[in-house]
Amino acid sequence: MDERFSRLRGFIDIYGEDLYFFNLIENTFRKYAEIYGFEEIKLPILERTELFVRGIGEGSDIVRKEMFSFKDRGNRDVTMRPEGTASVVRAFLENNLLNDPKYHKLFYIGAMFRAERPQAGRLRQFHQAGVEWFGSDSPLVDFENISMLWYILKELGISDKVDFIVNSVGCDKCTPNYKSYLTSFFDEHYDKFCEDCKERRNKNILRIFDCKNPSCQNTLKNAPKIKETLCDNCKYHLDTLTDMMSKDKIPFSIEDNLVRGLDYYTRNVFEVRYKGIGAQNAIAGGGRYNNLVSEFGGPSIPAFGFAIGIERTIITLKENIELPKKMSVALCSVSSKETNFSLEIAKILRKEKIVTHVLSHIGNLSKQMKVANKLGVKFAVIVGEEEFREKKVSLKDMETGKQNTVPIENLIDKLNNKGLE
Ligand SMILES: [Zn+2]
Ligand SMILES: [Zn+2]
Repeated sequence: MDERFSRLRGFIDIYGEDLYFFNLIENTFRKYAEIYGFEEIKLPILERTELFVRGIGEGSDIVRKEMFSFKDRGNRDVTMRPEGTASVVRAFLENNLLNDPKYHKLFYIGAMFRAERPQAGRLRQFHQAGVEWFGSDSPLVDFENISMLWYILKELGISDKVDFIVNSVGCDKCTPNYKSYLTSFFDEHYDKFCEDCKERRNKNILRIFDCKNPSCQNTLKNAPKIKETLCDNCKYHLDTLTDMMSKDKIPFSIEDNLVRGLDYYTRNVFEVRYKGIGAQNAIAGGGRYNNLVSEFGGPSIPAFGFAIGIERTIITLKENIELPKKMSVALCSVSSKETNFSLEIAKILRKEKIVTHVLSHIGNLSKQMKVANKLGVKFAVIVGEEEFREKKVSLKDMETGKQNTVPIENLIDKLNNKGLE
């Protein structure tokens, strides 16, 4: 192919095994979101830049250096959505969904965009499935979200491969105290922090925990802990959530420095980490955001949400789960005289929802068998002059190589028994 037409870096085509797992995650997520009473919402990919700057926070890595932003032809600042929450909040307000309890619990599945340096595991277009739950500050809501995610991971078969990490980032009442302690700590160790962190200090000091610089990470080990400054209400929220998780046997640990990379979080936040992929190991995360709705000019409405990173979950599934083999058949015919006969048989097979590849158009029988092999079908159904005359087919098990003649009326039964004697 001419290189001028090649994919952009960080953008990928999804097919084959990856797409199988992609659909599995999407379908499982949708099933549980519906069982838990969420309604689906499809959101625009392009939004005003201001929505994300305000929602995610000026000090966040996303806003500082990762947004796909540009001016449209009307000279408006627009951005391809880097995450889902800000858009759902906007949609919630813009469509007056507050007045309709049916739409207080929303879920979305779709592509997100971040102009990150495309290293391993970092895509510029990636996909997330997420939920947002408006209207309650109860820790029961936090728990319901986490329990739903737990059941999704269970059904996907990876719940024993992940850890839930939980923390509280405090509220309007207690976070300001913590931020001032943290700022004093920062200033005492000013020279040990990188230039990015110095910028973070002035925008939102909590964001220094997002820094991946080893020197900063090391210095932060001795930073004041947020749990020491949490107010009683925030403590109650964290304790209630973790009690409920313990009772439900959802394994978790509390990590003092977990703040998640977004400014809108308040109180409980969490992350799900896969025990295998190293630095990129968070496959899902979320938390409470009690101020975001009012930040966008709405009433004061508490909310909670989380999102699953689909691509990272695909990696986890590929490492742990074998792709199931589909029942599939290749229809081969000895000569063009049997083509119509083989099409009749294809009808019978497809009526039973058996995946059927008709190969009569591909050269002679040996060529057809080669293609059948490459397609990885379980059986080849072969028809020749004799089969046509006697209303039979030759059935070849592609794994064992065994071949039998089978009357057409017995073909489906034979295939369903999945074996030849
Ligand atoms: Zn608090
Ligand atoms: Zn740093």
